[in-house]
Amino acid sequence: MDKQFIQNIREDFPILSEKVYNKELVYFDNAATTQKPKCVVEKIEQGYYRYNANIHRGVHYLSQKATEEHEAARTTVAQFLNAEKREEIIFTRGTTEAINLVAFSFGEAFCHEGDEVIISVMEHHSNIVPWQMLCERKGMTLKVIPMNERGELEIEAFKALLTEKTKIVSIAHVSNVLGTVNPVKEVIRLAHEKNIPVLVDGAQAVPHIPVNVQELDADFYVFSGHKIYGPTGIGVLYGKENWLNAIPPYQGGGEMIQTVRFEKTTYNVLPFKFEAGTPDYIGSTALAEALRYVQNIGLEKIAAYEHELLEYGTKLLNEIDGMRIIGTAKEKSSVISFLVGNIHPYDIGMLLDKLGIAVRTGHHCAQPLIDSLEIPGTVRASFAFYNTKEEIDQFVAALKRVVIMLS
Ligand code: PLP
Repeated sequence: MDKQFIQNIREDFPILSEKVYNKELVYFDNAATTQKPKCVVEKIEQGYYRYNANIHRGVHYLSQKATEEHEAARTTVAQFLNAEKREEIIFTRGTTEAINLVAFSFGEAFCHEGDEVIISVMEHHSNIVPWQMLCERKGMTLKVIPMNERGELEIEAFKALLTEKTKIVSIAHVSNVLGTVNPVKEVIRLAHEKNIPVLVDGAQAVPHIPVNVQELDADFYVFSGHKIYGPTGIGVLYGKENWLNAIPPYQGGGEMIQTVRFEKTTYNVLPFKFEAGTPDYIGSTALAEALRYVQNIGLEKIAAYEHELLEYGTKLLNEIDGMRIIGTAKEKSSVISFLVGNIHPYDIGMLLDKLGIAVRTGHHCAQPLIDSLEIPGTVRASFAFYNTKEEIDQFVAALKRVVIMLS
């Protein structure tokens, strides 16, 4: 992507021209949440100003228009992930709720005492705790795939963990701390050899690489709208139709029912069975707008440009004395976690902030990973397609100043 193209893109994101502490903002906290282009915010405004009405239930114009928009958004998401059927797309509040849904409903249908769930050492808390809760509820065991020193999964160890007791595997497509792009297709193939389904946590993947759920053969694939330039409070669970039909509803309420009698309730068909209550139909349509925005640029193009940023940033950071980059996998997305000497990551983050640079510090909701590395946390810079090499220069220059101050 050439400079002018990036400059044009940046103009779609008004927040990028904000000043913080009277300094130009450098926003490198994209793995936590991304900024929103004007078209997404305008879509939200349009939703509330032009066709806001509760969906699915109304005979009147506005309700039908809002319903059409929400259901069209479902089709957009299905196409984005290349799902076979639009009914396989369930709107949730985000990745976390989607994983909780599967951990609960799949657990109710298929899990028993003595069974096992496999996750990996580099999971976000959202892909650990729901499975731990299931294990506690059912008397099951959580098994963890280890990684090597570069932050790549140990596939041989994974194979050894797969047994007749394994009920499901749940794994991140891309690590939010290490940036590792996991070989999820291979993980799925190996699990499927033993008829074990796989959930892929795609929170950090969908904004950066093209995802095709049919090609991956994922049984469940989840992501959050806010990490892909969409609004907060909306996310997606993709599930193969046969799995979604085989597991019970997660929550009860309106919309997920066919008939309600005090004696017995029957449940609605997919996808409504999993969408109890008034859904976030404004959020879903704005998410669809964000996906169109990303698709218009092109995910292949985004991946290539962000890779350039990753390589550029990694090279410059490695020139700093005492630099230790955490996560050096061959396949990496645009996340750089690091430590410098013995300086606490929090101190670096605090001082960078004062220079206008937004990075994240701490355990990044992956405490078991950070503990396994025996480090206090990391500083994490994560790039999006609206970031530039000039911003990386600014960041590295600021970091050098900060390191001198703290050494
Ligand atoms: N999984 C991964 C890999 C993440 O990076 C995150 C957020 O940082 C989540 C899950 C949780 O996403 P959310 O808080 O949007 O539900």
